[in-house]
Amino acid sequence: MEVIGIFGGTFNPIHKGHLVLAETVLDTLHCTQIRVIPAAVPPHKETPAVTAQHRAEMVKLAIQDQPKLVLDTCELDRQGPSYTIETLHLLRTRFPDQALCLIMGQDSYAKLPTWHRWLELLNYCHLLVVHRADKEKTLTLHPQHEGKLVDIATAPQAFAAQANGLISFLTQAPPDISSTRIREQLSQNGEMTITDIPPRVWQYIKENRLYQKT
Ligand code: ATP
Repeated sequence: MEVIGIFGGTFNPIHKGHLVLAETVLDTLHCTQIRVIPAAVPPHKETPAVTAQHRAEMVKLAIQDQPKLVLDTCELDRQGPSYTIETLHLLRTRFPDQALCLIMGQDSYAKLPTWHRWLELLNYCHLLVVHRADKEKTLTLHPQHEGKLVDIATAPQAFAAQANGLISFLTQAPPDISSTRIREQLSQNGEMTITDIPPRVWQYIKENRLYQKT
C-alpha cells in the first residue's frame, strides 16, 4: 500500500529543521508524498500574529523544489480550531486506499494527551515521532500506545502493510532549529540574514515585513 505522510504544524515560519525532517522521513519510510498542512488556528498555541495565508505562502516557497512535498491548505478553509483529528477524517475520505502517517516532533508527541480526541488518532493513521535535538535522548511511549510500537528498521514494511494503527520512533534528529527562536531573532534584528530558513522564505519575510517589532 502507498504510504502518505501528513506533516502538520504552525510553520511560523517554516525552517530548515522542518525540511530536513521531511527529507529524512521520505528517505526512511519511502512515502510517495508528504502533505504539509499549516494550522489556521493552532489549538495549543497562541493564534499567530502572522496570518495563515502568509504562513502557507512561505511553506509553498520552501517546498517548491521537492515534488514529493505538497502544500495542503485544508485547515485554512475551516472555521474554528484546527483539530488534527478532523483533518485526518477528511484525508481518510480523500485517500481511502492508502496508509496515512502523521509525522510529529517529540515535543508534540509528549503533549499528545492534550489533543482533541487523541486516542482516536491511530484509527486514522500511523504515527512517526521524530527526535528533537534539544530534548531528552529517549523517546517515551504513552502507556495507551503500548503494543503499537514498531522498530524504525521495520516501519517501512509495517506501515505499508496496514492503513493505520502503528507507531515508530525516528531517533535521527533534524538540526536544532525552532520557529520561536527565529521569530525572536527577526524581531531583534530584522536585517540580519537568518540561515536557518530557506532564502526564498527569508526574501518573502523581508518583502512583507513579517515578524518585525511594531
Ligand atoms: P515553535 O517554536 O513556534 O513552537 P516549531 O519550530 O516547533 O515552532 P512547528 O510548526 O510547531 O514548529 O512544528 C511542526 C512540527 O515539526 C512539530 O511536530 C514539531 O515538533 C516538529 N519540529 C519542528 N522543528 C523541529 C526540529 N528542529 N526537529 C524535530 N522536529 C521539529
